Amino acid sequence: MEIISDTSVNDLRVSAAAGQDASIRFRLLNHDTTQTALLTHISGTDLCIWMVDTNDAVSEGFDQILHKASAINFWGTICFSVLIIALIFLYRKNMFTLMMDPVTGGYSPSRFNQEAERLIARSAPGDYTFIVMNTAGFKLFNDIYGYAESNRILKHIHSTILKYLEKGEILARFGADDFNLLIHTTSEEVMVQKLDLVVDEINQFNAHLREKQWIIFRAGVYQIADTTLPVVHIRDRANIARKKLEIPTGDILYSCGFYEEEDRAQLQQENILTNKMDDALKTQDFKVYLQPKVDISTGKIINAEALVRWEDADMGLVPPDKFIPLFEKIGFIRRLDLYMWEQVCICLRRWLDAGLQAIPISVNLSRMHLINRDFLAPFIEIQKKYAIPPKLLELELTETAFQDRPDAIPEAISQIHLAGYSCSLDDFGSGYSSLNNLESLDIDILKLDCKFLRDARTENDKGHIVIEELIHMARRLGITVCCEGVETEDQLAFLRKCHCDIGQGYLFSKPVEVAAFEELLFGSVSGNP
Ligand code: C2E
Ligand code: CA
Ligand code: CA
Repeated sequence: MEIISDTSVNDLRVSAAAGQDASIRFRLLNHDTTQTALLTHISGTDLCIWMVDTNDAVSEGFDQILHKASAINFWGTICFSVLIIALIFLYRKNMFTLMMDPVTGGYSPSRFNQEAERLIARSAPGDYTFIVMNTAGFKLFNDIYGYAESNRILKHIHSTILKYLEKGEILARFGADDFNLLIHTTSEEVMVQKLDLVVDEINQFNAHLREKQWIIFRAGVYQIADTTLPVVHIRDRANIARKKLEIPTGDILYSCGFYEEEDRAQLQQENILTNKMDDALKTQDFKVYLQPKVDISTGKIINAEALVRWEDADMGLVPPDKFIPLFEKIGFIRRLDLYMWEQVCICLRRWLDAGLQAIPISVNLSRMHLINRDFLAPFIEIQKKYAIPPKLLELELTETAFQDRPDAIPEAISQIHLAGYSCSLDDFGSGYSSLNNLESLDIDILKLDCKFLRDARTENDKGHIVIEELIHMARRLGITVCCEGVETEDQLAFLRKCHCDIGQGYLFSKPVEVAAFEELLFGSVSGNP
């Protein structure tokens, strides 16, 4: 250590002994920096404090720390700024997704809801109308074209609808393919005209396509009478109106329904039925009723039709028109038809086992089955399980199936024949009947709808002539004719005169439980369920 102050180490010792303060400056060996030491006497004691002021060393360290701190500060500021920019970017992006539909570039659902709440709150009852438009079978587009192309289709639908909107009217896509519109109320007629134009323009792209791919809609409309309703409830009402519609068929591109108060009750009823149907199938609450089909020339029961009834503990006996349309809409009808088929097979097996003269029974086949090319496989499986001779089974296909899927029908009929069952064309004349069907389809039995007999009132009127000619034509084509809705002796006499083969109607019997039918057919059968 090298002393560089005037004070020596000895001077320090003297000062300490005298109880005085002193200081010394020195430099440590191999060190460039000088240090100062201070000796301070603690008053009232014999003690001193020895402090070393490492002045230069500290300042050097301090410089380094300052240097590091400013570097940290610099990079910290950079990182912080990047973080803030990222946060702003994320916030904007979030706001963007919150406010804008990335597929259509239009309003997002939440933006639409906000705007709709605002517009409706300011409006008078009846000023605005809420429309929900849903594209039927859009999933198919996804399957055929993939997501990217399907998204372009959605954008196209959106931009086309948007063109027809006026100031103060809004639109957004909800879910996959639901379009919600809030528009000024006009008359139903004007609204339908507008929908015509919109849907037509949406489908314009088909003009250049050889294989047309129609975009079909179901539109539910609610004219907002109660402006205090939250938008979710307003939308529910438009959806109720939409759900009561059938999916348009043929060359009809959209169907449009208007909300009515009683629709809500209907929807509630449908919800009750939907909630109960699975259990009802398990607990066998669906009952087979049989209605005889009678040979007109002999008056004998030669056939029967199985018709479903729902026996429910709370609802009582529910007729099919209360639940079949619903089941067709939600697809449950396929399970129900198979259940009926199985019950019919069980019944026939019992007759055969009892050595009774079993007669063929027909089961109604909903058009919903025809969606699946292999629809008959489960029917065949059941028939084989109970070892029923196929000639004892008949499937009734309604005329409406021909409008929906004309291409699938010939194939379905040939499958039915291949399995050995008979095939009848049901409700002929109830809708858009086509005489072509008689000639082109390989059906075994033509069932003339009740409507024909109802319309044939006076002798030799047009109704009578039509029935007569239809029977004549069917017979020449080798098709058996069954006339439905025979209620009076006069009608029966007329059918006999026209050589109609089979009659079905209340004159012979209403549809009855299996046990009652067996009474009619065999007298009585032991071992009835
Ligand atoms: P449908 O297949 O045309 O059945 C004949 C309907 O006419 C039956 O009505 C029957 O009770 C009724 N009917 C029979 N004779 C007369 C008559 O003389 N006068 C009048 N006014 N009506 C008569 P139901 O049983 O109410 O069935 C209605 C419809 O429900 C059936 O019409 C059929 O389309 C459908 N359906 C019934 N059961 C089934 C089923 O198991 N599966 C399917 N998919 N549909 C079924
Ligand atoms: Ca039928
Ligand atoms: Ca019928």
